[in-house]
Amino acid sequence: SRTTAINAYRLLERQGWVKTRVGSGTYVERHAVESNGNSGNKGNAGQMPWTELFAARPQSPLSTILRDLVAAPLAEDNIALAAGMADPATFPIESMQRLFAERAGTAAPIDFGHIPTEGYNPLRHAIATGLAAKGIAATADQVMTFSGSQNGLYLLARVMLEPGDYVVVEAPTFIGAVQVFQGAGARLLSLPVSEGLNLALLEDYLIRYRPKFFYINPTFHNPTGRVLSERERHDLIELAARYRLVIVEDDAYGELFYHHPPPLPLKALDSYGGVVYLNTFSKLLFPGLRIGYLAASPTLINRLAMEKQYIDLHTSNISQWLLHVYLESGQLPLHASRVRSIYKKRRDALAQALRHYCGADLSFSIPDGGFYLWCRIERPVTARDLLHEAIKGGVSFVPGDAFYTTPESGEREFRFCFTSHPETVLWEGARRIGDTLRRMTKA
Ligand code: PMP
Repeated sequence: SRTTAINAYRLLERQGWVKTRVGSGTYVERHAVESNGNSGNKGNAGQMPWTELFAARPQSPLSTILRDLVAAPLAEDNIALAAGMADPATFPIESMQRLFAERAGTAAPIDFGHIPTEGYNPLRHAIATGLAAKGIAATADQVMTFSGSQNGLYLLARVMLEPGDYVVVEAPTFIGAVQVFQGAGARLLSLPVSEGLNLALLEDYLIRYRPKFFYINPTFHNPTGRVLSERERHDLIELAARYRLVIVEDDAYGELFYHHPPPLPLKALDSYGGVVYLNTFSKLLFPGLRIGYLAASPTLINRLAMEKQYIDLHTSNISQWLLHVYLESGQLPLHASRVRSIYKKRRDALAQALRHYCGADLSFSIPDGGFYLWCRIERPVTARDLLHEAIKGGVSFVPGDAFYTTPESGEREFRFCFTSHPETVLWEGARRIGDTLRRMTKA
């Protein structure tokens, strides 16, 4: 069956025999052949067989997708609409430089030493204050900082999951989360997002599988842009409280609304202490800060801190002071409204350009916030095949199947990120997609 074939390829990839390149295909890895001594090349006889030494831990079959998205060799004039990136032109670099110089200039030597694993305390307080504005009552000891929210997700998986545990995820969902959960050996149960929140199916999963948690991105969802309504949020919390289900709420895009603020986070409705709220400054400010955070029970934070000590003692305190002085300077609200207005125009430009160049070949709905436009190809063309051709034409995106854990899902869907380029570039990207699609459906 197709699934057996896919699993065989994944096994070969895990063992280093083949490598999958997004939009291109699967290739035999030369070094794997050499390291196993089958190449007959005497020059390599003494090379370390590294791939044979790796621990046989569960690995996500998606492991290479994110890396490939960042590293894919693309034409110089390629328009990359794949990776979910804030536009570097929006980064508040001058004010960060000034604040950093002032803060570093008055720092005591101890400020360059270690800080608690849970995070830089003044920043934890500032984050707790920011959470209050979103209806989340958290004290500083209920907040922990991480090296990006990806680090928080990883640690959460380390402390909560054992191989064979079940985790519910939306389908489609954020690739980075799927990788972490699969890497911990979890079995994933998919809850489709396309027709509203299916609480009956979720309840069925809870009864049959007793999942460890439900990972959800309720606001400006990656990749579809969907927002869970207020009603759905209340109903979900009511169900979760009844079953004592842990909800991991990822709110990476909640601040990036283009009309009105979204409904309150699930954490603000948490009546039973079971919601773990995760957020990041990567989307609103810039990813190089590597600061994400989590708000949850101090008992969980204690355990996460013990686990974090194994890998990095604490997130960089220099990044944390810089963010702290930036938050204290009161500039974030202005920055947020600036980027919202820039990204809203970009969203509208991409939507308009796609309608112009692709017409009925593509369908999509316009998200009220976030970074992404989720498209469906209304022609007999898969998103993988379209990507393969589109890359030759100088434009890239993420094919939809990458966001699903079930085979044969999302084959006609794909994700554009509209925040990283100005309007004129987005128009050109849409033109290239339109040309590619027309060429492919004519042939
Ligand atoms: N969650 C979601 C939903 C994301 O889209 C991303 C970034 N793509 C992250 C978490 C990770 O962000 P970071 O590690 O940079 O904080």
